[in-house]
Amino acid sequence: MTGLTLIAATGATLPDEPFRPRHLIAGQWCDSTDGATSDRMSPAHGVLVSRAARGGVAEVDAAVAAARAALPGWAATSGKARAAVLLKVADLIEANTERMALLECLETGKPITQARGEVSGAADLWRYAAALARAQHGDSHNALGPDMLAVVLKEPRGVVSVITPWNFPIWILSQKLPFALAAGCCCVVKPSEMTPSTTAMLGELLSQAGLPAGVVNIVLGFGQPVGSRMVSHPGVDMVTFTGSTKVGRAIAAEAAGSLKKVALELGGKNAQAIFPDADLDSAADAVVFGIYFNAGECCNSGSRILVHADVAEAFVARVVALSARVAFGDPLHPDTQVGAIVTPQHQARIHGYVQAAQAAGARVALGGAPLRIEGLAGDFYAPTVVTGVTADMAIAREEVFGPVLSVLTFRTLDEAIRLANDGSYGLSAGVWSENVHTCLEFGRRVQAGTIWTNTWMDGFPEVTFGGMRQSGLGREIGQYGLDEFLEVKSLVMRVGRTRANWVRG
Ligand code: NAD
Repeated sequence: MTGLTLIAATGATLPDEPFRPRHLIAGQWCDSTDGATSDRMSPAHGVLVSRAARGGVAEVDAAVAAARAALPGWAATSGKARAAVLLKVADLIEANTERMALLECLETGKPITQARGEVSGAADLWRYAAALARAQHGDSHNALGPDMLAVVLKEPRGVVSVITPWNFPIWILSQKLPFALAAGCCCVVKPSEMTPSTTAMLGELLSQAGLPAGVVNIVLGFGQPVGSRMVSHPGVDMVTFTGSTKVGRAIAAEAAGSLKKVALELGGKNAQAIFPDADLDSAADAVVFGIYFNAGECCNSGSRILVHADVAEAFVARVVALSARVAFGDPLHPDTQVGAIVTPQHQARIHGYVQAAQAAGARVALGGAPLRIEGLAGDFYAPTVVTGVTADMAIAREEVFGPVLSVLTFRTLDEAIRLANDGSYGLSAGVWSENVHTCLEFGRRVQAGTIWTNTWMDGFPEVTFGGMRQSGLGREIGQYGLDEFLEVKSLVMRVGRTRANWVRG
């Protein structure tokens, strides 16, 4: 494919030996009782990156028992003591950035520079959660009458199962785990079977930071049986999950059996509406970033744009020209902006969406095919812009999870809002206009957990994040992210003997 910006293999030396992540249960690193392991090959380089212990029900049961045993002690620590540990973890994550970023890059196929940014962003999440650990408080009711006082306490929910996906392993774990710990919960963590390494590395850092044994336990393995047992186990009080809507639904159904609290961060089919009065240069750059970041394997991927018909042709031409300048290639090269697709099966799925859209009458304005990167065996997909998409096509409604942009057009604000809401997801959306009324109306009427206005995918630990509709339940990060892990209890107290007895006489 010509005209694209491709970066060939760097020839960098890859690790000779795979990393060997194991389970962390009650402060001890261990293999599975049956010795089972699973291998992860680098999607870009085709080398063995990690050989991880592959757990089962026995490991989950032991991990839940360890978390339950640790809970009274950890729940009783002060916010100050919890914060001290979280701050040490943040420092240790930063000190281990290179080691963690390399494994994250090799297991996911994402660029090394991006992986470094995510590791240091993760450290910042631990620091923010440390601040929240000290700032927690409930409410008091001092206007119930002179003889009454009530206080609303916030208590740790208990033992939490934390289940994460492969696309942002350390980042997503850090949106959950430090908040759960700040709240005083104990955890059993399962990373994706495809990306176990940085979660295990984090386990080492937790021990170095002085976190007591059993407060965080890690069980490696697949959704079945490990994830499933982490949901159904009667000793677990809450499940926090990030992943696909399909698995999220199965988890909610399984958790219903024991009425556990469930927090779900699921998929998205996020629309950005571009109005003719927008700063179109900034909008085009943000659209390109929004679709190619992490090769589109991102819940927040800006995979649908809605462009006003008056500017659609010129805007799409600008997006196509910019797309061709984005550097796709060896994730280990410092200039690479987009790396490999996570598995060959996923590559085929992405291509299937593009082919189906073409068959339904859409046009491919750029890309639309797998990409060969010189010197690398892995799967890459070309930057792809599909125009003439209509709202009924699968490519406009479902998560493609690849570097594939769908372009739809509109004529009125009402139509843009209708298109943005046309679908089952509600994770994020964006609006580009210099008119504050347009932006506010779009922001208020579109059903999504985050609405970006004249920007895309800016995130901050302070600003809560989560999905509406099929994109999830509950919120992460920010104050709301801590509250998810807290149970509320009302203490209602009579402070004087002023009430007449209920029983007369
Ligand atoms: P996935 O749902 O296949 O797997 C996620 C995790 O769940 C993995 O650890 C997996 O082993 C585990 N799992 C699988 N079946 C299970 C079961 N029955 N019970 C318990 N656990 C089970 O998702 P994925 O392919 O790893 O990640 C991609 C998906 O994640 C996309 O849909 C993406 O949109 C979503 N995602 C959402 C957010 C968000 O914040 N909303 C962020 C990142 C990714």
